[in-house]
Amino acid sequence: KVSVKDLHKAYGDNEVLKGINLEVQENEVVVMIGPSGSGKSTFLRTLNKLEEPSSGEILINGFNLVDKNTDINKVRENVGMVFQHFNLFPHLSVLENVTLAPVELGKLSKEEAKTLGMQLLAQVGLAEKADAKPTQLSGGQKQRVAIARALAMKPSIMLFDEPTSALDPEMVGDVLQVMRDLAEEGMTMIVVTHEMGFAKQVADRVVFFADGYIREQGTPEEVFNNPQDPRAQDFLNKVL
Ligand code: ATP
Ligand code: MG
Repeated sequence: KVSVKDLHKAYGDNEVLKGINLEVQENEVVVMIGPSGSGKSTFLRTLNKLEEPSSGEILINGFNLVDKNTDINKVRENVGMVFQHFNLFPHLSVLENVTLAPVELGKLSKEEAKTLGMQLLAQVGLAEKADAKPTQLSGGQKQRVAIARALAMKPSIMLFDEPTSALDPEMVGDVLQVMRDLAEEGMTMIVVTHEMGFAKQVADRVVFFADGYIREQGTPEEVFNNPQDPRAQDFLNKVL
């Protein structure tokens, strides 16, 4: 469970998050949409402690991320993140990319990690690529490896920041399918995406960001069919 209260984040004079309040329940899938520069990535990054908030409160399964004493590794174990660019290690095999973190952090033995890694690669449809190097994969395949890698830490929450934006169109479907499967299994997810079809089908809730605020939120039906905020209306007219 994620609970964010009055979250502010500024870069110098540039106030990017101006008081975000958001609760995400267990098993909930929240899709975030909004114009470029509205603070979506910044917000996700604060949830993984990649950014320090200026003020406010973030509780993730009881861990307070804003507390200086919170163990950052514990947070990262709990919160998996997948980015637009997958940043796989080029010198490691696909399977080694997936097993690296849980072994390095002493969470799993090498053998356990290998077994789990193969399960996860099967889950994302890439078991036969276990021994390949990332350079031998397509963009969509690399992104599915990145998802398996994040899942190897057994996170309770997964954050996705435009995971399909850098992919050729024909690769997008496979990655969205993996995410859809994860959602169906009950993973708690926060997804920033421009894939409105995915949002309509998979989101329990759609959250619209603009100028550092959450301007509108509701079911996909509510937000897409009957947006109240003028900025949301304008944005949706452009993207739908
Ligand atoms: P997009 O849809 O283009 O990905 P976004 O909603 O994810 O946009 P952010 O990347 O969160 O937007 O950026 C919000 C604002 O914060 C922008 O004005 C950006 O210039 C600024 N910003 C983001 N990261 C940094 C940083 N590391 N240092 C300074 N300013 C930053
Ligand atoms: Mg972004």
